[in-house]
Amino acid sequence: MTGKKSITIFGATGSVGGSTLSLIREHPDSFTPHALTAHRDYQGLAKLALEFKPAHAVIADEAFYTPLSEALAGTGIRVAAGAQALIDIAAQKVDLIVAAIVGVAGLAPVWKAVEAGQTIALANKEALVSAGHLIMPAARKSGANLLPIDSEHNAIFQCLRHESHEHIERIILTASGGPFREMTLAEMQQVTIEQALQHPNWSMGPKITIDSATMMNKGLELIEAAWLFDEGAKKLDAIIHPQSTLHGLVGFKDGSWLAHLGIADMRVPISYALGWPERLAWQAQPLDFSSALTLDFAPVDETKFPCFQLAKQVMAGVPEQAIILNAANEVAVAKFLNGDIGFCDIAGHVRATLEAGDYGIIADSFEAILALDREIRQR
Ligand code: NDP
Repeated sequence: MTGKKSITIFGATGSVGGSTLSLIREHPDSFTPHALTAHRDYQGLAKLALEFKPAHAVIADEAFYTPLSEALAGTGIRVAAGAQALIDIAAQKVDLIVAAIVGVAGLAPVWKAVEAGQTIALANKEALVSAGHLIMPAARKSGANLLPIDSEHNAIFQCLRHESHEHIERIILTASGGPFREMTLAEMQQVTIEQALQHPNWSMGPKITIDSATMMNKGLELIEAAWLFDEGAKKLDAIIHPQSTLHGLVGFKDGSWLAHLGIADMRVPISYALGWPERLAWQAQPLDFSSALTLDFAPVDETKFPCFQLAKQVMAGVPEQAIILNAANEVAVAKFLNGDIGFCDIAGHVRATLEAGDYGIIADSFEAILALDREIRQR
Protein backbone atom coordinates (compact mmCIF):
# COMPACT_ATOMS: atom_id res chain seq x y z
CA MET A 1 0.00 0.00 0.00
CA THR A 2 1.35 3.44 -0.87
CA GLY A 3 0.81 6.42 1.46
CA LYS A 4 -1.25 6.69 4.61
CA LYS A 5 -5.02 6.25 4.36
CA SER A 6 -7.18 8.57 6.43
CA ILE A 7 -10.00 6.65 8.06
CA THR A 8 -13.19 7.37 10.01
CA ILE A 9 -14.72 4.58 12.10
CA PHE A 10 -18.40 4.80 13.05
CA GLY A 11 -18.98 2.42 15.96
CA ALA A 12 -15.32 2.34 17.01
CA THR A 13 -16.14 0.90 20.46
CA GLY A 14 -18.00 -2.13 19.05
CA SER A 15 -16.93 -5.55 17.86
CA VAL A 16 -16.30 -4.60 14.21
CA GLY A 17 -14.79 -1.27 15.31
CA GLY A 18 -12.42 -3.15 17.63
CA SER A 19 -11.36 -5.61 14.92
CA THR A 20 -10.71 -2.70 12.55
CA LEU A 21 -8.61 -0.87 15.13
CA SER A 22 -6.61 -4.01 15.92
CA LEU A 23 -5.58 -4.14 12.24
CA ILE A 24 -4.73 -0.42 12.27
CA ARG A 25 -2.66 -1.01 15.39
CA GLU A 26 -0.62 -3.53 13.35
CA HIS A 27 -0.11 -0.94 10.56
CA PRO A 28 0.66 2.41 12.18
CA ASP A 29 2.41 3.63 9.01
CA SER A 30 -0.54 2.85 6.71
CA PHE A 31 -3.52 4.57 8.41
CA THR A 32 -4.33 7.91 10.03
CA PRO A 33 -7.55 7.78 12.06
CA HIS A 34 -9.52 10.95 11.25
CA ALA A 35 -12.55 10.36 13.50
CA LEU A 36 -13.79 7.70 15.93
CA THR A 37 -17.38 7.51 17.16
CA ALA A 38 -19.44 5.73 19.84
CA HIS A 39 -22.97 5.87 21.22
CA ARG A 40 -22.63 6.11 25.03
CA ASP A 41 -19.36 4.38 25.88
CA TYR A 42 -17.44 7.62 26.39
CA GLN A 43 -14.76 5.90 28.47
CA GLY A 44 -14.08 3.32 25.74
CA LEU A 45 -14.05 6.07 23.13
CA ALA A 46 -11.70 8.26 25.21
CA LYS A 47 -9.31 5.33 25.66
CA LEU A 48 -9.24 4.64 21.91
CA ALA A 49 -8.87 8.35 21.11
CA LEU A 50 -5.89 8.64 23.48
CA GLU A 51 -4.26 5.66 21.78
CA PHE A 52 -5.04 6.44 18.11
CA LYS A 53 -5.10 10.25 18.31
CA PRO A 54 -7.84 10.97 15.72
CA ALA A 55 -8.64 14.59 14.85
CA HIS A 56 -12.25 14.05 16.07
CA ALA A 57 -14.01 11.97 18.74
CA VAL A 58 -17.81 11.97 18.42
CA ILE A 59 -20.29 10.58 20.94
CA ALA A 60 -23.85 10.11 19.65
CA ASP A 61 -25.58 10.61 23.00
CA GLU A 62 -25.20 14.28 23.94
CA ALA A 63 -25.41 13.43 27.66
CA PHE A 64 -21.82 12.18 27.42
CA TYR A 65 -20.32 15.25 25.77
CA THR A 66 -18.96 16.73 29.01
CA PRO A 67 -17.26 13.62 30.43
CA LEU A 68 -15.75 12.85 26.99
CA SER A 69 -14.48 16.44 26.68
CA GLU A 70 -12.96 16.24 30.15
CA ALA A 71 -11.28 12.92 29.39
CA LEU A 72 -9.71 14.38 26.21
CA ALA A 73 -8.93 17.87 27.52
CA GLY A 74 -5.53 19.18 26.41
CA THR A 75 -5.06 16.51 23.70
CA GLY A 76 -6.10 18.69 20.75
CA ILE A 77 -8.72 16.09 19.76
CA ARG A 78 -11.95 17.87 18.82
CA VAL A 79 -14.96 16.49 20.67
CA ALA A 80 -18.52 16.64 19.38
CA ALA A 81 -21.83 15.02 20.31
CA GLY A 82 -25.23 14.28 18.86
CA ALA A 83 -26.82 12.89 15.71
CA GLN A 84 -25.91 15.92 13.56
CA ALA A 85 -22.25 15.66 14.64
CA LEU A 86 -22.16 12.09 13.28
CA ILE A 87 -23.63 13.27 9.98
CA ASP A 88 -21.13 16.15 9.76
CA ILE A 89 -18.23 13.74 10.25
CA ALA A 90 -19.60 11.44 7.54
CA ALA A 91 -19.41 14.34 5.06
CA GLN A 92 -15.72 15.06 5.81
CA LYS A 93 -13.64 13.55 3.02
CA VAL A 94 -11.41 10.63 4.03
CA ASP A 95 -9.90 7.68 2.17
CA LEU A 96 -12.14 5.16 3.93
CA ILE A 97 -15.20 5.21 6.17
CA VAL A 98 -15.94 2.11 8.25
CA ALA A 99 -19.70 1.97 8.90
CA ALA A 100 -19.98 -0.26 11.99
CA ILE A 101 -22.82 1.24 14.00
CA VAL A 102 -25.40 -1.42 14.85
CA GLY A 103 -28.97 -1.06 13.63
CA VAL A 104 -30.80 1.58 11.66
CA ALA A 105 -29.10 4.13 13.96
CA GLY A 106 -26.21 3.85 11.48
CA LEU A 107 -28.29 4.84 8.47
CA ALA A 108 -27.92 8.64 8.66
CA PRO A 109 -24.09 8.66 8.57
CA VAL A 110 -24.06 5.98 5.83
CA TRP A 111 -26.51 8.04 3.79
CA LYS A 112 -24.41 11.21 4.18
CA ALA A 113 -21.19 9.32 3.33
CA VAL A 114 -22.84 7.93 0.19
CA GLU A 115 -24.04 11.39 -0.85
CA ALA A 116 -20.50 12.70 -0.29
CA GLY A 117 -19.08 10.04 -2.65
CA GLN A 118 -16.94 8.38 0.01
CA THR A 119 -15.45 4.87 -0.05
CA ILE A 120 -17.36 2.97 2.61
CA ALA A 121 -16.47 -0.34 4.27
CA LEU A 122 -20.00 -1.40 5.15
CA ALA A 123 -20.76 -3.62 8.14
CA ASN A 124 -24.03 -1.88 9.08
CA LYS A 125 -26.35 -4.20 7.13
CA GLU A 126 -29.51 -2.64 8.64
CA ALA A 127 -28.76 0.54 6.64
CA LEU A 128 -28.93 -1.36 3.34
CA VAL A 129 -31.88 -3.50 4.42
CA SER A 130 -33.90 -0.35 5.19
CA ALA A 131 -32.65 1.98 2.50
CA GLY A 132 -30.96 -0.09 -0.23
CA HIS A 133 -33.48 1.19 -2.79
CA LEU A 134 -32.19 4.75 -2.21
CA ILE A 135 -28.58 4.10 -1.21
CA MET A 136 -27.59 2.12 -4.33
CA PRO A 137 -28.82 4.71 -6.88
CA ALA A 138 -27.33 7.51 -4.73
CA ALA A 139 -23.97 5.71 -4.69
CA ARG A 140 -24.03 5.34 -8.47
CA LYS A 141 -24.78 9.06 -8.76
CA SER A 142 -22.10 10.27 -6.32
CA GLY A 143 -19.46 7.68 -7.25
CA ALA A 144 -19.35 6.28 -3.69
CA ASN A 145 -17.73 2.84 -3.40
CA LEU A 146 -19.44 0.31 -1.13
CA LEU A 147 -17.02 -2.38 0.10
CA PRO A 148 -18.97 -5.00 2.04
CA ILE A 149 -17.29 -6.29 5.20
CA ASP A 150 -20.04 -8.62 6.30
CA SER A 151 -17.96 -11.78 5.77
CA GLU A 152 -20.39 -13.48 3.33
CA HIS A 153 -20.81 -10.37 1.19
CA ASN A 154 -17.12 -9.72 1.22
CA ALA A 155 -16.64 -13.31 0.01
CA ILE A 156 -19.08 -12.78 -2.88
CA PHE A 157 -17.52 -9.38 -3.64
CA GLN A 158 -14.13 -11.06 -3.96
CA CYS A 159 -15.55 -13.87 -6.16
CA LEU A 160 -17.12 -11.27 -8.48
CA ARG A 161 -14.14 -8.96 -8.69
CA HIS A 162 -13.23 -9.95 -12.24
CA GLU A 163 -16.61 -11.24 -13.40
CA SER A 164 -19.41 -9.83 -15.53
CA HIS A 165 -22.80 -9.45 -13.94
CA GLU A 166 -24.61 -11.16 -16.83
CA HIS A 167 -22.73 -14.43 -16.26
CA ILE A 168 -24.05 -14.93 -12.71
CA GLU A 169 -26.56 -17.74 -12.23
CA ARG A 170 -26.72 -18.00 -8.42
CA ILE A 171 -25.29 -16.38 -5.30
CA ILE A 172 -25.22 -18.42 -2.11
CA LEU A 173 -24.38 -17.17 1.37
CA THR A 174 -23.35 -19.65 4.02
CA ALA A 175 -24.76 -19.68 7.56
CA SER A 176 -23.32 -21.43 10.59
CA GLY A 177 -26.86 -22.11 11.83
CA GLY A 178 -26.05 -20.48 15.18
CA PRO A 179 -26.11 -22.11 18.61
CA PHE A 180 -29.54 -23.76 18.17
CA ARG A 181 -28.98 -25.46 14.82
CA GLU A 182 -29.43 -28.94 16.28
CA MET A 183 -32.20 -28.14 18.79
CA THR A 184 -35.84 -29.03 18.28
CA LEU A 185 -38.46 -26.28 18.18
CA ALA A 186 -39.67 -27.38 21.64
CA GLU A 187 -36.15 -27.07 23.05
CA MET A 188 -35.76 -23.63 21.45
CA GLN A 189 -38.80 -22.41 23.43
CA GLN A 190 -36.76 -22.76 26.61
CA VAL A 191 -33.45 -21.11 25.64
CA THR A 192 -32.00 -18.38 27.85
CA ILE A 193 -30.42 -15.06 26.92
CA GLU A 194 -27.01 -16.44 27.91
CA GLN A 195 -27.40 -19.48 25.61
CA ALA A 196 -28.52 -17.28 22.70
CA LEU A 197 -25.46 -15.06 23.19
CA GLN A 198 -23.08 -18.04 22.78
CA HIS A 199 -22.32 -18.13 19.05
CA PRO A 200 -20.37 -21.29 18.14
CA ASN A 201 -17.99 -19.69 15.61
CA TRP A 202 -18.04 -15.89 15.70
CA SER A 203 -17.45 -13.33 18.45
CA MET A 204 -19.78 -10.37 17.71
CA GLY A 205 -21.92 -7.67 19.32
CA PRO A 206 -25.15 -8.77 21.12
CA LYS A 207 -27.71 -7.74 18.46
CA ILE A 208 -26.13 -9.64 15.56
CA THR A 209 -25.44 -12.61 17.86
CA ILE A 210 -29.17 -12.91 18.64
CA ASP A 211 -29.98 -12.35 14.94
CA SER A 212 -27.64 -15.26 14.16
CA ALA A 213 -29.42 -17.49 16.68
CA THR A 214 -32.86 -16.73 15.14
CA MET A 215 -31.30 -16.75 11.64
CA MET A 216 -32.86 -13.34 11.01
CA ASN A 217 -29.24 -12.35 10.38
CA LYS A 218 -29.10 -14.58 7.30
CA GLY A 219 -32.39 -13.18 6.07
CA LEU A 220 -31.14 -9.61 6.50
CA GLU A 221 -27.98 -10.66 4.67
CA LEU A 222 -29.99 -11.94 1.71
CA ILE A 223 -31.71 -8.55 1.43
CA GLU A 224 -28.32 -6.84 1.79
CA ALA A 225 -26.90 -9.08 -0.98
CA ALA A 226 -29.82 -8.30 -3.29
CA TRP A 227 -28.95 -4.59 -3.12
CA LEU A 228 -25.17 -4.94 -3.17
CA PHE A 229 -25.02 -7.32 -6.12
CA ASP A 230 -28.12 -6.03 -7.93
CA GLU A 231 -29.73 -9.47 -8.05
CA GLY A 232 -33.34 -10.53 -7.64
CA ALA A 233 -34.56 -12.89 -4.93
CA LYS A 234 -34.64 -15.89 -7.31
CA LYS A 235 -30.87 -16.00 -7.73
CA LEU A 236 -30.06 -15.63 -4.01
CA ASP A 237 -30.09 -18.24 -1.29
CA ALA A 238 -28.39 -19.35 1.91
CA ILE A 239 -27.19 -22.77 3.03
CA ILE A 240 -26.10 -24.09 6.41
CA HIS A 241 -22.38 -24.68 6.68
CA PRO A 242 -21.57 -25.28 10.37
CA GLN A 243 -17.78 -24.91 10.06
CA SER A 244 -17.94 -21.26 8.81
CA THR A 245 -14.90 -21.90 6.62
CA LEU A 246 -16.57 -21.24 3.28
CA HIS A 247 -18.34 -17.89 3.35
CA GLY A 248 -19.95 -17.41 -0.05
CA LEU A 249 -20.34 -19.09 -3.46
CA VAL A 250 -21.17 -17.82 -6.91
CA GLY A 251 -22.48 -20.10 -9.67
CA PHE A 252 -22.00 -19.02 -13.30
CA LYS A 253 -23.90 -19.80 -16.48
CA ASP A 254 -21.14 -22.15 -17.71
CA GLY A 255 -21.54 -24.45 -14.69
CA SER A 256 -18.50 -23.07 -12.84
CA TRP A 257 -18.63 -22.12 -9.18
CA LEU A 258 -16.28 -19.79 -7.33
CA ALA A 259 -16.15 -19.89 -3.55
CA HIS A 260 -14.29 -17.98 -0.86
CA LEU A 261 -12.68 -19.74 2.10
CA GLY A 262 -11.12 -18.23 5.19
CA ILE A 263 -10.93 -18.50 8.94
CA ALA A 264 -13.94 -17.24 10.91
CA ASP A 265 -12.36 -13.94 11.88
CA MET A 266 -13.81 -10.57 10.91
CA ARG A 267 -10.30 -9.24 10.39
CA VAL A 268 -10.19 -11.20 7.09
CA PRO A 269 -12.98 -9.20 5.35
CA ILE A 270 -12.07 -5.98 7.19
CA SER A 271 -8.44 -6.22 6.06
CA TYR A 272 -9.69 -6.65 2.50
CA ALA A 273 -11.57 -3.35 2.72
CA LEU A 274 -8.69 -1.59 4.49
CA GLY A 275 -6.25 -2.67 1.78
CA TRP A 276 -8.63 -2.31 -1.20
CA PRO A 277 -7.86 -2.23 -4.11
CA GLU A 278 -4.69 -3.95 -2.90
CA ARG A 279 -4.34 -6.58 -0.15
CA LEU A 280 -3.20 -5.81 3.37
CA ALA A 281 -0.87 -8.38 4.95
CA TRP A 282 -1.54 -9.13 8.63
CA GLN A 283 -0.89 -11.91 11.13
CA ALA A 284 -3.87 -13.99 9.93
CA GLN A 285 -4.02 -17.52 11.23
CA PRO A 286 -3.66 -19.71 8.10
CA LEU A 287 -6.30 -22.26 7.15
CA ASP A 288 -4.86 -25.64 8.10
CA PHE A 289 -4.92 -28.08 5.16
CA SER A 290 -2.45 -30.51 6.79
CA SER A 291 -5.29 -32.48 8.40
CA ALA A 292 -8.71 -33.36 7.00
CA LEU A 293 -10.84 -30.26 6.39
CA THR A 294 -14.55 -30.98 6.64
CA LEU A 295 -17.04 -28.83 4.77
CA ASP A 296 -20.66 -29.80 5.53
CA PHE A 297 -23.67 -28.23 3.84
CA ALA A 298 -27.40 -28.52 4.50
CA PRO A 299 -30.53 -26.57 3.60
CA VAL A 300 -31.95 -24.08 6.12
CA ASP A 301 -34.92 -25.47 8.09
CA GLU A 302 -37.37 -22.60 7.60
CA THR A 303 -39.92 -24.10 10.01
CA LYS A 304 -37.40 -24.00 12.82
CA PHE A 305 -36.15 -20.55 11.82
CA PRO A 306 -39.26 -18.52 10.88
CA CYS A 307 -37.31 -15.24 11.00
CA PHE A 308 -35.30 -16.42 8.01
CA GLN A 309 -38.51 -17.28 6.17
CA LEU A 310 -40.05 -13.88 6.95
CA ALA A 311 -36.98 -12.06 5.64
CA LYS A 312 -37.04 -14.12 2.44
CA GLN A 313 -40.68 -13.19 1.87
CA VAL A 314 -39.87 -9.54 2.46
CA MET A 315 -36.94 -9.68 0.04
CA ALA A 316 -39.39 -10.37 -2.79
CA GLY A 317 -41.70 -7.54 -1.68
CA VAL A 318 -41.71 -3.74 -1.55
CA PRO A 319 -39.00 -1.71 0.32
CA GLU A 320 -41.44 -0.64 3.07
CA GLN A 321 -41.71 -4.28 4.20
CA ALA A 322 -37.96 -4.52 4.74
CA ILE A 323 -38.06 -1.36 6.89
CA ILE A 324 -40.91 -2.82 8.96
CA LEU A 325 -39.13 -6.18 9.30
CA ASN A 326 -35.90 -4.53 10.39
CA ALA A 327 -37.49 -2.13 12.90
CA ALA A 328 -39.73 -4.83 14.40
CA ASN A 329 -36.75 -7.14 14.72
CA GLU A 330 -34.59 -4.48 16.42
CA VAL A 331 -37.38 -3.86 18.95
CA ALA A 332 -37.97 -7.59 19.52
CA VAL A 333 -34.27 -8.37 19.99
CA ALA A 334 -33.93 -5.52 22.51
CA LYS A 335 -36.99 -6.87 24.37
CA PHE A 336 -35.51 -10.38 24.40
CA LEU A 337 -32.15 -9.10 25.68
CA ASN A 338 -34.06 -7.19 28.35
CA GLY A 339 -35.82 -10.38 29.47
CA ASP A 340 -39.28 -9.11 28.41
CA ILE A 341 -40.05 -11.79 25.80
CA GLY A 342 -38.87 -15.33 25.05
CA PHE A 343 -36.53 -16.32 22.24
CA CYS A 344 -39.28 -17.81 20.05
CA ASP A 345 -41.46 -14.70 20.56
CA ILE A 346 -39.05 -12.67 18.39
CA ALA A 347 -40.41 -14.19 15.16
CA GLY A 348 -44.02 -13.80 16.34
CA HIS A 349 -43.45 -10.12 17.09
CA VAL A 350 -41.93 -9.49 13.65
CA ARG A 351 -44.67 -11.44 11.87
CA ALA A 352 -47.45 -9.60 13.73
CA THR A 353 -45.88 -6.22 12.87
CA LEU A 354 -45.63 -7.17 9.19
CA GLU A 355 -49.19 -8.50 9.13
CA ALA A 356 -50.51 -5.30 10.72
CA GLY A 357 -50.17 -4.10 7.13
CA ASP A 358 -50.09 -0.67 5.68
CA TYR A 359 -48.48 2.00 7.81
CA GLY A 360 -49.41 4.75 5.37
CA ILE A 361 -45.86 5.87 4.62
CA ILE A 362 -44.17 5.48 1.22
CA ALA A 363 -40.44 5.11 1.78
CA ASP A 364 -39.36 7.23 -1.17
CA SER A 365 -36.98 9.49 0.73
CA PHE A 366 -34.46 9.18 3.50
CA GLU A 367 -36.79 11.14 5.83
CA ALA A 368 -39.74 8.87 4.98
CA ILE A 369 -37.67 5.77 5.84
CA LEU A 370 -36.83 7.21 9.26
CA ALA A 371 -40.48 8.21 9.76
CA LEU A 372 -41.67 4.66 9.00
CA ASP A 373 -38.96 3.20 11.25
CA ARG A 374 -40.08 5.54 14.09
CA GLU A 375 -43.73 4.65 13.54
CA ILE A 376 -43.02 0.91 13.90
CA ARG A 377 -40.97 1.45 17.08
CA GLN A 378 -43.68 3.64 18.65
CA ARG A 379 -46.35 1.02 18.05
P1 NDP B 1 -21.58 -3.77 18.61
O1 NDP B 1 -22.82 -3.79 19.41
O2 NDP B 1 -20.43 -4.56 19.08
O3 NDP B 1 -21.09 -2.26 18.39
C1 NDP B 1 -21.98 -1.28 17.94
C2 NDP B 1 -21.28 0.04 17.82
O4 NDP B 1 -22.25 1.01 17.41
C3 NDP B 1 -20.70 0.57 19.13
O5 NDP B 1 -19.59 1.38 18.86
C4 NDP B 1 -21.85 1.43 19.68
O6 NDP B 1 -21.41 2.43 20.60
C5 NDP B 1 -22.36 2.05 18.40
N1 NDP B 1 -23.77 2.42 18.50
C6 NDP B 1 -24.79 1.68 18.98
N2 NDP B 1 -25.95 2.35 18.92
C7 NDP B 1 -25.67 3.56 18.40
C8 NDP B 1 -26.44 4.72 18.14
N3 NDP B 1 -27.76 4.78 18.41
N4 NDP B 1 -25.82 5.80 17.61
C9 NDP B 1 -24.50 5.78 17.35
N5 NDP B 1 -23.70 4.71 17.59
C10 NDP B 1 -24.29 3.61 18.11
O7 NDP B 1 -22.00 -4.22 17.13
P2 NDP B 1 -21.15 -5.06 16.06
O8 NDP B 1 -19.79 -4.46 15.92
O9 NDP B 1 -21.28 -6.50 16.35
O10 NDP B 1 -21.99 -4.81 14.74
C11 NDP B 1 -21.97 -3.57 14.06
C12 NDP B 1 -22.64 -3.75 12.70
O11 NDP B 1 -21.84 -4.66 11.93
C13 NDP B 1 -24.03 -4.39 12.77
O12 NDP B 1 -24.84 -3.83 11.78
C14 NDP B 1 -23.78 -5.86 12.47
O13 NDP B 1 -24.88 -6.49 11.89
C15 NDP B 1 -22.62 -5.76 11.50
N6 NDP B 1 -21.77 -6.93 11.47
C16 NDP B 1 -21.09 -7.30 12.60
C17 NDP B 1 -20.26 -8.40 12.59
C18 NDP B 1 -19.46 -8.78 13.79
O14 NDP B 1 -18.61 -9.69 13.69
N7 NDP B 1 -19.64 -8.15 14.93
C19 NDP B 1 -20.16 -9.27 11.39
C20 NDP B 1 -20.87 -8.75 10.26
C21 NDP B 1 -21.65 -7.64 10.30
P3 NDP B 1 -21.33 2.11 22.21
O15 NDP B 1 -20.19 1.17 22.36
O16 NDP B 1 -21.11 3.43 22.82
O17 NDP B 1 -22.66 1.48 22.56
